[in-house]
Amino acid sequence: MSFKRAARLDQLPPYLFIEIDRKKREAIKAGKDVISFGVGDPDRPTPTFIVDRMAEAIRESANHQYPLGSGSMEFRKCVTTFMQQRFNVTLDPATEAMAVIGTKEGIGHLPLAVINPGDYVLVPSPGYPVYESSTIFAGGLVHEMPLLSERGFLPDLNAIPRDVLSKARLMFINYPNNPTGAVAGLDFYEQCVALAQKHDFVICSDAAYTETYFDDRDRPRSIFEVKGAKEVAVEMHSLSKTFNMTGWRLGFAVGHAGVVEALAKIKGNVDSGAFTAIQDAGITALEGINRPEVLANREMYRRRRDALVPHLRELGFGVEPPRATFYVWAKCPKGHEDSMRCATKILDEAAIVAIPGVGFGKYGEGFVRFALTVEEDRIRVATGRLAEMKW
Ligand SMILES: *Cc1c(COP(=O)(O)O)cnc(C)c1O
Repeated sequence: MSFKRAARLDQLPPYLFIEIDRKKREAIKAGKDVISFGVGDPDRPTPTFIVDRMAEAIRESANHQYPLGSGSMEFRKCVTTFMQQRFNVTLDPATEAMAVIGTKEGIGHLPLAVINPGDYVLVPSPGYPVYESSTIFAGGLVHEMPLLSERGFLPDLNAIPRDVLSKARLMFINYPNNPTGAVAGLDFYEQCVALAQKHDFVICSDAAYTETYFDDRDRPRSIFEVKGAKEVAVEMHSLSKTFNMTGWRLGFAVGHAGVVEALAKIKGNVDSGAFTAIQDAGITALEGINRPEVLANREMYRRRRDALVPHLRELGFGVEPPRATFYVWAKCPKGHEDSMRCATKILDEAAIVAIPGVGFGKYGEGFVRFALTVEEDRIRVATGRLAEMKW
């Protein structure tokens, strides 16, 4: 037989990091000391209190069987308690909360549960690439919502065409935002909820970074702090970034009971949920959200941010220190607005990896993203090298 892969795979946007990846590997092979601000994956290990709980949980034989479809009731109760304590929102653990195998899995499956082929999905650009690929897999049409610096990287909801709105079944929003680092206020969530109510679509708020903030008086909000949000929205939370647990694969979806049930139905047919031992360790993690280890992690990102941002600015990058996330979204210096070329220049001349903004969608052009997943002393080496470049 001559195998030809499914056509939907050819509909995915081209993978724009290949060239940077190749150059990075070449540089390493040539013996260069490459400093990578590329991937958004915490460099520090999972805190010991969580690993210790996992070591116990893995010995409990009840955990060796198939997990319960929507997550254990203990985990779901812990999730709703977390949402109550952190955001002062009340959710029913039985119907309005479920475990996902990382937020990526929840987002990846959500369109299958919500849209029909030919429906529009509103997707931010630049944005996390999974919004677009999951839409394509479900036969949906992507409508890009530009995130521009002059609007604080919030989409202009009034700019969405009427005919798109009438066929829109789902909108993805993501604050604190990857890649721009922007944070949304409650007024923005209010506008989204009102629009969704008017046009009958579901909002998926990707909240993977709500706990990666730098000022206790300025903590990111949940969409459910808006009245009526539960009637239109689900929110995806992740343990990955908050607790350095990207490899564990655990997150949760909360909100609209019908959407939660529909997502559980999809998942029941393709996976059997997150390993229960990991959910047990996840409970310990969420209950430890105010432990010193977690606070220290935030402090560390803040120091790294402050070690990088002022230097980038001096060099001619347009950049504000982010209030949340571990990303620095920097406008390329004048005359170097082609983000692919800008990232290539940094890699060629300073052996530093940053991601070209265009890789996150066409409205990411003109920017590069630095992930603060590099030790502070290495950031200092990097800024020294950048300072010696000729622009
Ligand atoms: C990292 C990330 C995720 C995925 O998190 P997991 O829970 O590890 O799957 C989702 N959304 C955004 C915007 C992210 O940056």
